[in-house]
Amino acid sequence: MEVLKNKADVDLSKCLVYDAHLIKTFRACEEKFRLFEVEHIVGKQSKAAPAFGIAFHEGVASYRLNKKAGNSYTVSLAEAQNDFLRAYKKHMPPEALSEVMTDAKRSPANGLRILTGYVNHYEPIGTQWLHVEVPFALWLGRVQVPTGKWAAHDTGIIEEYVDKDLIYVGIIDGVGELQGRIDVNDIKTTGMFANDAWLEGFKMDQGLLGYMVAAREVLGIDTHYASIHGVWIQGEAKDPKRAKPLDDYFMTKEIYWDDEQIAEWQANTISTVAKIERAKVDKSFDKDYGQNCGAFGGCPYRPLCSVTPKFRPQMVEMDYERKIWTPLEDERLQPVDGL
Ligand code: SF4
Repeated sequence: MEVLKNKADVDLSKCLVYDAHLIKTFRACEEKFRLFEVEHIVGKQSKAAPAFGIAFHEGVASYRLNKKAGNSYTVSLAEAQNDFLRAYKKHMPPEALSEVMTDAKRSPANGLRILTGYVNHYEPIGTQWLHVEVPFALWLGRVQVPTGKWAAHDTGIIEEYVDKDLIYVGIIDGVGELQGRIDVNDIKTTGMFANDAWLEGFKMDQGLLGYMVAAREVLGIDTHYASIHGVWIQGEAKDPKRAKPLDDYFMTKEIYWDDEQIAEWQANTISTVAKIERAKVDKSFDKDYGQNCGAFGGCPYRPLCSVTPKFRPQMVEMDYERKIWTPLEDERLQPVDGL
């Protein structure tokens, strides 16, 4: 996979590499970040929702790429449906299949129904897709990283720092042009009905703003806009009288940020990474003991955090697994040998 960079000579192995997920995780709870990114411990929670989301993204990307290549609606839709099913088979973990049997909303047939509805909802708008699925590595600045070593100087004993390049990575879903305006598009699938309040939240989304900045810096696109396509993943209602029309499964939100807001985002991102690097050297990560422990049905680490420390290693072996986060891969959580 070709990763687009705004600095061609950057060697990722020598840089600090972060993405929206890691930054959001640290901001939510330092301990959660430590468990996830330092210890590479992940919960054995259901993988059906993210796997379904990946397959849906691949179906949409296939449709856009086919349209971009000049193919007709009919050909593009057929290709998108095939690619969705191929991705579904590849990504859906076997242990999720029993869940899918009882949870019709993530069945292949329902996926095809929603994908087809998505295409039919957005096709008449006539967006021209300029870029689809763009992995990027965006140089954001230099960060002073403590080494953990101290040295004698004229002014006393001072901690030593090294300057490191910060590379912010991610994958842009799409960049489209409509009526002379170019914006960065992101697809968000959700099991909850996508309403205005949910969409409003993306005005302050680390990831979405980052995609817009990456499109500016890496693709050279003069834009200040992003759009969200919120997609409600829901099964068909058994009672047709209570069923929502398929068009209601899709909601769009356009967001604009000015240069000052972009600068604020960039400074804030660099500042968070500096705090993370400090915490890594100090081996000091605070627990939230707050709303993040209970948010979204409960943090996956809550069972671990809430037992007495001496039982935690045993619990990790039984209820968790070791995986490493690879933000530029389709399968972002990869098994790690030897951990
Ligand atoms: S349960 Fe709470 S303290 Fe533990 S990792 Fe999750 S958010 Fe952090």
